[in-house]
Formats: sequence, structure tokens, C-alpha cells
Amino acid sequence: MHFKSFLNSLPNGVKLVAVSKGQSTSQIRSLASQGQVDFGESRLQEALPKLNSLKDLKTVRWHFIGSLQANKVRQVVKAFDVIHSIDSLKLAKRISRISAEECKKPRVMAQVKFRNDPSKFGFTPDGLLEVWNEFIALPNIDVIGLMTISPKELDLNQRKILFRECRVFSEKLGLKDCSMGMSQDWKEAVEEGATWIRVGSLLFGGR
Ligand SMILES: *Cc1c(COP(=O)(O)O)cnc(C)c1O
Repeated sequence: MHFKSFLNSLPNGVKLVAVSKGQSTSQIRSLASQGQVDFGESRLQEALPKLNSLKDLKTVRWHFIGSLQANKVRQVVKAFDVIHSIDSLKLAKRISRISAEECKKPRVMAQVKFRNDPSKFGFTPDGLLEVWNEFIALPNIDVIGLMTISPKELDLNQRKILFRECRVFSEKLGLKDCSMGMSQDWKEAVEEGATWIRVGSLLFGGR
């Protein structure tokens, strides 16, 4: 995968989160030196030492994309710029409270499941609607969009339909961003209006 040509092939308005979980700091440095700004990590234990040893990369922004446990919120708020994976109002409230204590206001997304998928966390669309007014009123988070992950068993055409639902739902809520599409299905996500794609193995090779 030639990184620069991949980056240049993305339409305007689509940003790449390079998912660096399972990858070494030297691989991250290599992409950063080629102009990549946004990196995603999903496991805090793995991420913290990496972020620490990459502190000198001042232009890099860190995205937390994994499932977030309550007792890890403070560390995530302190170390990450964007959180893609809020899956409950309770978690959102906690992030907002702790962000206030840390004098932060992170950009966040609500993770939504548009299909039943027991292996994934997330709000159902109805579940998010129920708590929506309380969610967006929280003072110390900046809710910018929705994040979704396709269930493994869907083919590319079914994924396109799912991504379209995410785009439509985000517009209904007045949100600009959709974080959707990974190595296998980023093209379909871009076609359906992704603003962030989260790509790992396609860029870095296997984990
Ligand atoms: C690992 C991961 C990705 C990237 O997956 P690839 O298939 O390697 O592109 C994207 N999003 C989330 C939430 C992940 O955990």
C-alpha cells in the first residue's frame, strides 16, 4: 500500500484515522513523517506507553476508538483528542464531568449499532434518540458525529446500506461527522458519506 497515493485518493472532506493498534512506534513515526496527522488506538494499556514515547510528535492527534471502561476515562481524556466510541449516556456524563475537572472539552462521537451485533458495543438508534437531549446538553464534550462498525457477516452491498443509514441518522441529529469504514469497506463508507475512515491493516500490513 503506497501511503501517499492512498491519502491523495480520498475525496475532500474525508479524513483518515490511521489505526495503529498492534503496530510499533517506529511504524507510527514513519507515517507521521509522511504527513499523517490522525492516529487511532483501541486498547488503552497498549496505547499509553506508545503515546508517551511519541510525545515529541507535536502535530499528531490521537483518537480513541475502542470500548471505554469507566475507570479508564480520566486517562483517555488526558491523552486523546477525539473519542469515537461513546456507547451509553452514563459514559458520556462521566467523560463530561472528568473533562471539566481536567479543563478539557474533547470532540466525541456516539457509537451506534444499526444491526443487531452481540459482539459490538453501541447505542441502538432508538436508544440514542431517547437520551439525545441530555447527551448533547452535557457541557464538557463536543458531540461531532456518529461512529459505526459493520457486522462481519455483511457483504459490501449490505455495508453500503448500513453506512447510508448512519449518514441519514447523523443528518437527522444535525451532526456533521460519520466515522465509518475500515480496511475492507472504506470505499463503500466514503461513497455513503463517511467523514472519518478508520484504516489499520491496509496501511500497516497485518497485525
Ligand atoms: C482495528 C479497528 C479498525 C481498523 O481495522 P482494519 O481492519 O485493520 O482496518 C477500525 N476501527 C476499530 C474500532 C478498530 O478496532
